[in-house]
Amino acid sequence: MKPVEDVLIVVDVQPDFMPGGALAVARGDEVVPVINRIAAGFSHVVLTQDWHPRSHVSFAANHAGRQPFETMTLPYGEQVLWPVHCVQDTEGAALHRDLHVPHARMVVRKGHHEHVDSYSAFLEADRTTPTGLTGYLRDTGVRRVWLAGLATDYCVAWSALDARAAGFETIVIEDACRAIDLDGSLARAWRDMLGAGVRRVTSNDIETRETTT
Ligand SMILES: [Zn+2]
Repeated sequence: MKPVEDVLIVVDVQPDFMPGGALAVARGDEVVPVINRIAAGFSHVVLTQDWHPRSHVSFAANHAGRQPFETMTLPYGEQVLWPVHCVQDTEGAALHRDLHVPHARMVVRKGHHEHVDSYSAFLEADRTTPTGLTGYLRDTGVRRVWLAGLATDYCVAWSALDARAAGFETIVIEDACRAIDLDGSLARAWRDMLGAGVRRVTSNDIETRETTT
């Protein structure tokens, strides 16, 4: 079991990000059993849930003449326009039914502000509005953040960079994540994360170390 200063943050394991979902991440469903396995080794687990109003600014359908995956300039910067996904209180926004982390302590719902997207579990896309997660983790004595979930190059990467910026040691478990990879976004995300001091491991690295220590 990981020490109490470790937290596993499980990002956006929701049906809309799975094959067949509204914003499907290729092989996104493959992360579920990996996450279930590694989560058992953490006493502290936090889940995130993308959770948008139907009128959300990130949906291409809410901008006349715009198509999903185009980029648009919003008051806070460049925004990729997405298909309608993870609408509050729909089946696609629920936690995935096979995700089995009964001991998760908190669920952070993000992207609930109509005019601001939030890839990161820590800071919304305007880069100023906090979700409250930094304070929660500090208050509960966390020093090291492990990340898994969807998608590597968006919500996982933004969360990892913000965790580093907030002063947490940060580790991404690569095989517990899958990427969207839009126009080279995956390579860019890894470059940014590794450049910021985020560590990249696989679930085997964790489990091997667990059995040898
Ligand atoms: Zn979203």
